[in-house]
Amino acid sequence: MSPLQILASLAGSAGLMALLALTFGTLERSRLPGWSRSLAAGLMFGFVAVVAMLTPVIVMDQVVIDGRSVIVGLGAAYGGPLAGLVAAVVAALFRYFQIGGPGAFPGTIGIFLAALLGWAWMRFSVAAGRPRFHQMAIGGFVISQQFLVAWIIGPHVAAQMIATVYPLLLLVSVAGAVVLGTLVERERRLIDAERRLEQAALRDSLTGLSNRRDFEQELIRARSGPGGAERSVAMIFLDLDDFKKINDRYGHAAGDEALRVFGGILGRHAAERQTVARIGGEEFAILLPDHDLPEACRLADGVMEALRGARVEYGSAAFSMTASGGVACFSTPLPEVDDMLRAADEALYEAKHGGRDRVVVAAGPVAA
Ligand code: GH3
Ligand code: MG
Ligand code: MG
Repeated sequence: MSPLQILASLAGSAGLMALLALTFGTLERSRLPGWSRSLAAGLMFGFVAVVAMLTPVIVMDQVVIDGRSVIVGLGAAYGGPLAGLVAAVVAALFRYFQIGGPGAFPGTIGIFLAALLGWAWMRFSVAAGRPRFHQMAIGGFVISQQFLVAWIIGPHVAAQMIATVYPLLLLVSVAGAVVLGTLVERERRLIDAERRLEQAALRDSLTGLSNRRDFEQELIRARSGPGGAERSVAMIFLDLDDFKKINDRYGHAAGDEALRVFGGILGRHAAERQTVARIGGEEFAILLPDHDLPEACRLADGVMEALRGARVEYGSAAFSMTASGGVACFSTPLPEVDDMLRAADEALYEAKHGGRDRVVVAAGPVAA
């Protein structure tokens, strides 16, 4: 094989690495369950390993040098044991049945060894699965040790390999691990940034609760989500009483602390699946998907009780506060989102008019 052909083959491998990194990023972003993500990653790495075998870097008697082992090894490293196993099986089947030859058996064993080495490298030597540059190079070196299966053919073959093709195998392995590692790391940084932005867009920075946008999105999801014909959605609106006076008397910063305290109470009372949001200045809401009226009322009463017993302390100020609440519960056919929000809002308004520090249940088509 001429140096130019080797160079072309290496360039092709770099392209494959880029393809793998993109696929990896797409799978990471997907909302697929973990095992199916691993399966898809394994199939992809296995497929690319096959492509690498079709474009070998060098072919000698009984020995083929290509990117397959580093690709399978990295599949196990980045995709986990299931992805590594799937990639190894795909690559091994191709190596054994399609390429065959006297090197078929050790070649197949070498593929599985590469997966094992890749997985072990990531699992035991890389903190949090995020390798640094030099660790990527070490990973390539570790995976290249799969060539030790040459001992299966015979010590003379192994010795000959160390002297001839191993340096190239090592180069392919280290370069592959560094290129793919860098690309995957880049994808992960992008994904992290996307998640942070997404979080920021849906969170209230003062209380750490959901914001109005997230609450409305969750409501839309709860309204149209699964659950068949019979579904009920409940929501509670809560608004702190005379909050303006708290600000006026103790200052805006103390008011902020009061909002955090109230947010904390709501967060502690709500269950995992319930969305707690700050939907306005001193207005909060809890969404209870698949809940009925008694449950929503119980939750609202519990929150009111806890609030009456809570004290806000800020600097030299210490005070307590109350809130008013509106509870609305809907069963199928569920009204439009705006109508649901209006019903809870009107109930809250009634609670304010009725003298504050109380919860009012919305009239209308409520669930039993
Ligand atoms: P009501 O019992 O009728 O709800 O009276 P209220 O004073 O609580 O209601 P109003 O809507 O008149 O005033 C709400 C106040 O909340 C006015 C506004 O300055 C204050 N507020 C809104 N957002 C924040 C915030 O982020 N921090 C602080 N400290 N105050 C806020
Ligand atoms: Mg208020
Ligand atoms: Mg208000």
